[in-house]
Amino acid sequence: MNLEEKLKNFDYSLEEGILEEYSQDKSIFKIRPKVVVFPRNSEEIKNLVKIAKENNLGITPRAGGTDMSGGSIGEDILIVFTKYLNKFNIDTEKKIAIAEPGVYFRDFEKELNKYNLMLPSYPASKEICALGGMVGNNSGGEKTLKYGKTEDYVLGLKVVLSDGEEYYFEKLDESELQKRLSLENFEGEIYRKIYQLIKNNYEIIQKSRPKVSKNSSGYNIWRVYEDGYFDLTKLFVGSQGTLGIITEIKFKLVEKENFSHLLVIFIKDLKDLPHFTNEILKLEPTSLEITDDHTFKIFLKFAKEMASLLGAKGIFSMFKLFLPEILMIAKIGLPKLIVLAEFTSQSQDEIKEKIGKAKEIIKKYKYLFREPKDEKETEKYWRLRRDTYKLLREKIKNLTASPFIDDFIILPEYLPEFLPKLYKILDEYKLIYTISGHLGDGNLHIIPLMDLKNESQRKNILEITDKVYDLVLSYKGILTAEHNDGLIRGPYLEKEFGKEVYDIFLEIKKIFDPQNIFNPYKKVMAKKENIERYMLK
Ligand SMILES: Cc1cc2nc3c(=O)[nH]c(=O)nc-3n(C[C@H](O)[C@H](O)[C@H](O)COP(=O)(O)OP(=O)(O)OC[C@H]3O[C@@H](n4cnc5c(N)ncnc54)[C@H](O)[C@@H]3O)c2cc1C
Repeated sequence: MNLEEKLKNFDYSLEEGILEEYSQDKSIFKIRPKVVVFPRNSEEIKNLVKIAKENNLGITPRAGGTDMSGGSIGEDILIVFTKYLNKFNIDTEKKIAIAEPGVYFRDFEKELNKYNLMLPSYPASKEICALGGMVGNNSGGEKTLKYGKTEDYVLGLKVVLSDGEEYYFEKLDESELQKRLSLENFEGEIYRKIYQLIKNNYEIIQKSRPKVSKNSSGYNIWRVYEDGYFDLTKLFVGSQGTLGIITEIKFKLVEKENFSHLLVIFIKDLKDLPHFTNEILKLEPTSLEITDDHTFKIFLKFAKEMASLLGAKGIFSMFKLFLPEILMIAKIGLPKLIVLAEFTSQSQDEIKEKIGKAKEIIKKYKYLFREPKDEKETEKYWRLRRDTYKLLREKIKNLTASPFIDDFIILPEYLPEFLPKLYKILDEYKLIYTISGHLGDGNLHIIPLMDLKNESQRKNILEITDKVYDLVLSYKGILTAEHNDGLIRGPYLEKEFGKEVYDIFLEIKKIFDPQNIFNPYKKVMAKKENIERYMLK
């Protein structure tokens, strides 16, 4: 029986237009799948896994398809959840939600807002991403500094494993763990093998624990056995669909804080940045985000589009919207960095106190700052932070906004020493690029604009990546804090963590997926030649 016959009861497509549509995510890669399938339920996913196994085909899960590392595209069977698997339930009493992987975050957020609840680990792509992808990548975002990443909000996962069966994973205490260890099925085998692996390599794992506050690289071996609990959800979160297909997620939710206040700080000279950052961090801001002068210039260049997105109509209201920036540039020129410091609390007094102290710190460093006077102005600054990549991809026509050094993280105190070295590498290649990110934890998003049709520029991508990643690792950083490994960073995993740890990652992959059907050659076993092979041309 050929593949088409086996898929005859599924909603699937072999149409040119559909294959083309799903051959890209938001990375620099393009891979055309053999078939795109839209599963209606877990039963179909179980059958798809069996079909993939029998035919030795890869199976790549895809939620919103906004992955920047090439994680949500694949050569064989691409399964897309957003069409049918997009339902969720919220228990407002218990503050939990049960959701399918294809739920768009924007729909989820709208419903949560009604109950004053939130899933605070949302990424800047929150208008276009879906929950399965947030879990797949272990996403984080502007509120992660205070609230943590997606790994901190997943209480349970239903996953279809490589035997084509669905299992439920959650945090287990010692007695529950013993029960799972004695199961005589594939689940039991997984528990026994992973338990042994973690136990046998306990010291190596402890020694290799990332020094930075966020990590989406590799498998999260550091949190599987923690405080006496054994939790395999930690391995699935951030595994980019390489260990199994997540069919249902149980999320912990948190109550929204009633009050928030944003300070927008314009920094012309970076020399005091680490001291300033340290002092502001002591006030425990919810967000401490940055965008650089390149981003700001692009934002101003497309001010008309941004203004219309914010509902400003006509030249006069656009001028009004950007008046603070015009005045600020007239006074100090273009700032090198714009910092968004947001404070949130259930108590207005606490906010007032923190804002007062923050202003004193800002004044001490002689930085200019602004307090947005209404929601529209606040939204303008958040858009500057969140929408640049979208603007770059949509508006710059002859060059491609290219994420390849887009998500590394180093301890913030190293930034002043690190940044000039980074600029030196980027300037050597005369790159046009934007920098934004999370100052609070030293996580930078660098997006160079490249001519991917030009062979030498494509070659430069590999050279620049090598140099930048050597620099990041020399500061004991991590190559991806949020965006994950995929095709682009998978080949660097061994260099990042060393052979012993990489071998543990390989062993985990082998235990879950001995036939290598789940999102093959992403994250582990990824090859540098695939970066060249699949790069957009
Ligand atoms: C403009 C822009 C801004 C971004 N900002 C951020 C940011 O601030 N923080 C951040 O973390 N990321 C960011 N990203 C990257 C990306 O948007 C996020 O990681 C997002 O959460 C991915 O969600 P998605 O639904 O698009 O996932 P997809 O791209 O569909 O999938 C992501 C990964 O998860 C896997 N996956 C999807 N569903 C399943 C499933 N059911 N089972 C197993 N594996 C699955 C996929 O195979 C893939 O490897 C940004 C991207 C863009 C384009």
